[in-house]
Amino acid sequence: MPRLCACVAEARIVEVHSPKPENRIGTYPHWTLDAWKPGVPGRIEHIYTHWSAHDYGSVFPAYHFCVAMLPSGTIVVVNTHDVRENMRDVYEGPALPYAQHTRNRNSFALGIAVMAMEGATPFDFGRFPLTEELVDAVCSVGARLAAFYDVPVDADHVMSHAEAALRDGYFGTGKEQRWDVARLTPSPKALVEREALEVGDELRARMCRPA
Ligand SMILES: [Zn+2]
Repeated sequence: MPRLCACVAEARIVEVHSPKPENRIGTYPHWTLDAWKPGVPGRIEHIYTHWSAHDYGSVFPAYHFCVAMLPSGTIVVVNTHDVRENMRDVYEGPALPYAQHTRNRNSFALGIAVMAMEGATPFDFGRFPLTEELVDAVCSVGARLAAFYDVPVDADHVMSHAEAALRDGYFGTGKEQRWDVARLTPSPKALVEREALEVGDELRARMCRPA
């Protein structure tokens, strides 16, 4: 089975203070949120939003753009994967490298992710919870990418991993299931499918908000 995005609770634990090079912000081009803008033209038709299920500072090349937080609290955008590798039908040449962010949906598709939610459940978001600022940041990244690549910000083109999982039959909190980004604040309520769609709508609305 191909390696999917890191947004999985059972993925290896990355040390916060001494991550591997591939998980270090400094390994990749990175910018403050305000300074970052898309710059590589090409064919992109879909954008998928994730969380990493790790800490705020470890980044992952399974996504193209990671929204991370420095120890100072500054939010940065980290370009962890070359977007050009997904500007093709990746399933026609699966041996060539590409970012494997969303199962069976990686052709002409970008993966963006908030670095957060290690050990989170729908009821308890753990030590690295989503914050309003981080959610706004990933929505800002999504908005800028959608504008640059002319991707409509609607439920068929810009969706969360949870929405893709819902369509493809693996939504949920189980081991092989995904629920990023189906809830923005922890709640004792059971996670239901409708919530994935409602939060997807909210993320898209936030992407459409004037900067
Ligand atoms: Zn994901």
